[in-house]
Amino acid sequence: MIARRLVFLWVAGVMGFGQAAAAEGPVERLAGALRFETLSHEDPADFDAAPFLAMHDYLGAAFPRTHAALGRERVANYSLLYTWTGSDPSLPPILLTSHIDVVPVVPGTAEDWVHPPFGGVVADGFVWGRGALDDKVGVLATLEAVERLLSEGFVPERTVHLAFGHDEEVGGPNGAGSITRLLAERGVQHWFSLDEGMAILEGTAGIDRPVAMVGVAEKGFLTLRLTARATGGHSSVPPPNGAIPRLARALVRLDETPLPARFGAVAGDLFDALAPYLPATQAFLIEQRWAFGPILEAVLSDDPAMNAMLRTTTALTILEGGVKANVLPTSATATANFRLVPGDSVDFVVEEVRRIIDDPDIEIEITTAREASTVSRSDSDAFAAIASAVRAIEPDIVVAPALVVGGTDTKHYGEVSDDSYRFTPFRLGGEDVGRIHGTNERVAVDDYGDMITFYESLLEGAAGKR
Ligand SMILES: [Zn+2]
Repeated sequence: MIARRLVFLWVAGVMGFGQAAAAEGPVERLAGALRFETLSHEDPADFDAAPFLAMHDYLGAAFPRTHAALGRERVANYSLLYTWTGSDPSLPPILLTSHIDVVPVVPGTAEDWVHPPFGGVVADGFVWGRGALDDKVGVLATLEAVERLLSEGFVPERTVHLAFGHDEEVGGPNGAGSITRLLAERGVQHWFSLDEGMAILEGTAGIDRPVAMVGVAEKGFLTLRLTARATGGHSSVPPPNGAIPRLARALVRLDETPLPARFGAVAGDLFDALAPYLPATQAFLIEQRWAFGPILEAVLSDDPAMNAMLRTTTALTILEGGVKANVLPTSATATANFRLVPGDSVDFVVEEVRRIIDDPDIEIEITTAREASTVSRSDSDAFAAIASAVRAIEPDIVVAPALVVGGTDTKHYGEVSDDSYRFTPFRLGGEDVGRIHGTNERVAVDDYGDMITFYESLLEGAAGKR
């Protein structure tokens, strides 16, 4: 990879990359797409439609073959659904999804970007800008692959749907939600769907080769508000059990008592896939986990990323209580956010929290709740097709099923797919994770080329023959 990057930089230097390749190649088309400020805001009143409509036009102009050969529908005004009709209507279709919207740049951080977040700059072997990883890169790479296949005369046997939502960053209710309802009304059930969610990780758990983590499930989401009440009064004569100490005790108990580790479902399959490549001690612990469960659990729990794969996580996120230094508050509240592993229901977690806190006077109120997704199969032909497309770009890669700890639009699309996978084939090193939703989001030009190859291989392998 390093050698290829050096060659690219040399070529870019000689050619004066930027002017020479303007709007001509895939890299420039991606850069152009990053210039549209297709923002999802927490407050729907801040939504600006114009950049979305402009981006639709841009895609139409950038991918003429695709827009001539595939049907395109605007769904909920700003999302796009493409249909590439296959030659054999008896085969269940496949669904490739990404999203057009991006998160805003945190106020005050735009200055920290090496290149402006909506500049769409190609420099130093990277395409820079908001959406370069999450997730315009998926939209553009998919369309590049389709455009390339069309230019080669490829005809799918199996129908292919491409769905690009416009509000994934706020949960996808209008975009992916409406597309899913539309497909369901038409009676469409896909063989599989593929969305963003996981990536190719380098330097994972001491493994000396890259690992493609293919998300087979998505964690659930639960927010609880915990409230302690007390009499209040003047702070000069404080009674025992004030609202703040009472709440504090509950929070310490919650923080110090992790929910149970779950080696079933996804974590076990992930560790089994990684074991042959792990250092001998870890591999041994994993293979013999029936005997060494507690040791293995302790080792894995120390690593926050592994811990999140293993159990429902507990995060204390907001604390409120008291207004004045000499006044006892009548109430204190805390917000706790849980990400649920498949198998731990919302009801189960609420009951566990009640048991751990062990104080009937603490009120527990659910503010948001979504159950974890079902778990898609990692021994299916669909998973194998994804794995084989990844090997087209990285032959020695380890492909492992994994659990997506955030949320994706597949919480909707899963309803119209037998199996749902969540994976975008870009490479994430240690510091790159912070670029997603953060500062200096960028994708390597080499990775982008590989992504297009991946989608092309996947469509060839999964949708049919030339
Ligand atoms: Zn995303």
